[in-house]
Amino acid sequence: MQGNQKPMIESPLIEKALGYIGGQWCGADSGKTTPLLNPATGEHLADVPSMGVPEITAAVEAAESAMAEAPSPGRRARWLTDMGDAMLAHKDELARIITLENGKPLAESAGEVEYGASFFHYFAGQLDHLSAKSLPGSIRNCRWTVHHRPAGVAGFITPWNFPVGMVGKKLPAALGAGCAVVAKPAPQTPLSMIACWALAEQVGIPAGWMNLVIGDAAAIGGVLCAHPAVRVISFTGSTATGTLLIEQTAPYVKRLAMELGGHAPFIVFDDADLERAADELMVNKFRAGGQTCICANRVYAHSDIAVRFVDAVADRVGKLRVGNGLDPQTTLGPLINRAGFDKVARHVRDALENGAKRIVGDDPPRPGHDWGAFYSPTVLLGVKSDMAICREETFGPVVGVSEFDDEQQVVDQANSTPYGLAAFLFTADVERAERIGAALKFGHVGINTGTNPTPQAPFGGMKQSGFGREGGLEGLLEFSEPQVLVRG
Ligand code: NAP
Repeated sequence: MQGNQKPMIESPLIEKALGYIGGQWCGADSGKTTPLLNPATGEHLADVPSMGVPEITAAVEAAESAMAEAPSPGRRARWLTDMGDAMLAHKDELARIITLENGKPLAESAGEVEYGASFFHYFAGQLDHLSAKSLPGSIRNCRWTVHHRPAGVAGFITPWNFPVGMVGKKLPAALGAGCAVVAKPAPQTPLSMIACWALAEQVGIPAGWMNLVIGDAAAIGGVLCAHPAVRVISFTGSTATGTLLIEQTAPYVKRLAMELGGHAPFIVFDDADLERAADELMVNKFRAGGQTCICANRVYAHSDIAVRFVDAVADRVGKLRVGNGLDPQTTLGPLINRAGFDKVARHVRDALENGAKRIVGDDPPRPGHDWGAFYSPTVLLGVKSDMAICREETFGPVVGVSEFDDEQQVVDQANSTPYGLAAFLFTADVERAERIGAALKFGHVGINTGTNPTPQAPFGGMKQSGFGREGGLEGLLEFSEPQVLVRG
């Protein structure tokens, strides 16, 4: 295997921009690489390997061999604690790498590192749940014991919007359950994962347990779906790709955790604390430039307060500072690329052409390249359910507000989507909150908060937002197979 891609980025965590297979840093067998550019500036950050089937197969085999030696839960817990500690110790450098390749503001990147590390620390304390449990008494004249066995090699396929967050959500659960890993980063953000893998090497996670393959998505997906040693695939990304992976794994009957797209409703009733709702919307909507799976894509404001609420939001949006995420003044970075920009621009154009009113925002210059895609944060009022912004994920810094009058009407509208990931509602009426919370077909419902998930609670989608959970005990059990031993 080749291995001398010296990156342009200077970082103590990235000596070489390479994959990691069986404890060795390596490039593509073919020597092929792909350039990686900073989405804010176009700066050339690195050339990363374009791996294919042989390297990915080698990674799966390395993971399978590593699992032949089954480390104790205590040892695995130590890996997780050490890894979480290492991430926090290198928070600033990891954050800089995230910002360089993803574009989000530095403070958000630092928050993402803390978030990722918190999953390692959480799961390190959960491995007792995997201990064997004897059922009480004699059943059918036998003694019954339930064990949790490692499911097998775990394959990860991840998106670019939270590269270190994804490491946190998936890796400690798999390693904690005793599964070795083969991970594929998104092509836009491989360096953040390379840096995490360098930390794993530093803390002594043994060869074969963490493999990183960078390259052709179809080749990587093909091997992970078909190889018999891979028993779990944990995927985060679009519903379209998730559907393809479900089809590709069907002949092999694998465990899947599918964290797919979202289209979050954000409902504000007339009795809500409007200032609080506006503050929470800002954090929820503009995190990662509006490029998150849980950010509000449809805002429903009661008609009695809609104008006041929109004014409160517009006031806050007007204070956002768009720019390079490395500038400490920046609160909104660029979109990931020009395709992302074009989609956001199409949604805004469609809304304006069909009667919505722009309260804040202007037509930003279309980037001439795949980088520098800065979209002016925008607030729209008068959004209707047949507009593109209500039907497709926008993935950008646009708040589209519709008015409503009736509780049942807004619940029906909120649920009128194939997605079911996250929803948010703001009201002072506790009973109404409980009633609507139960009626909303979403896996994560925020009541008077726009908060994101936490390691302690299971996060995941209903409907076409997927199945399987990350975080909580449920997240750990995704990687373990229950086995019953019956002793007569
Ligand atoms: P995407 O296009 O589906 O890509 C996600 C990952 O899948 C990338 O690494 C991509 O690699 C890979 N991929 C694409 N085609 C593949 C194939 N045929 N076989 C194997 N892998 C393949 O999604 P995205 O645009 O990067 O991410 C945004 C989406 O992720 C949004 O829909 C968002 O809502 C969703 N998301 C969901 C969650 C959640 O927790 N539910 C969290 C974050 C994001 P290539 O780019 O190399 O093709």
